[in-house]
Amino acid sequence: MSLKNKPRKTAKKKQASLSSLIRKADTVTSQYIRQKYADTQGIVKCVTCDTKLHWSQSHCAHFMERANKSTRWLEENLHPACPSCNVFRKEYHKREYTLYIIDMYGREKIDEFKSLAREVISASQVRFLAEEAIEYYSAQLKYMA
Ligand SMILES: [Zn+2]
Repeated sequence: MSLKNKPRKTAKKKQASLSSLIRKADTVTSQYIRQKYADTQGIVKCVTCDTKLHWSQSHCAHFMERANKSTRWLEENLHPACPSCNVFRKEYHKREYTLYIIDMYGREKIDEFKSLAREVISASQVRFLAEEAIEYYSAQLKYMA
C-alpha cells in the first residue's frame, strides 16, 4: 500500500468516555464544595450533626441522591458532612439535611430539586452537565487557591 492511499487521520479529537467525565466532575465538585465551607484552618461543620472536622476528612453530601444526574453537580445540593452521617445515619442525615436546605434556601428549593430530579435526561445531556461541572468547579478551585 502506497503512502498516498493511507487513510488520513481525522482531525476530530477522541471524546472522553462518559464514565471518566462523570468521575472527573465528581472529583472537582467534591474538592470545591468541601473547601468552600472550610474556615481558615480548613475546618468544616457537618451539615447534619454540626461535628467539626477537616474538609479533607469530610464527604461531599448530596441532598438529592447522586443517582440523579440533573442535581448531581448542583452547588445548592451539595454540602460537607461527616462520614458517619453521610454513610451510616441515613435517616437522621436526610431529616436534618432537609431542615438545613429549608433554612438555607427555603422550601421552594426542595420542590425545585424534585422537579429537576424527575426529568429524564439523555446521555448527551449528562455529558454536558459533567463538562459544565468540570469547567465551573475547576475555575472556582483556581480562584480559591
Ligand atoms: Zn455528621
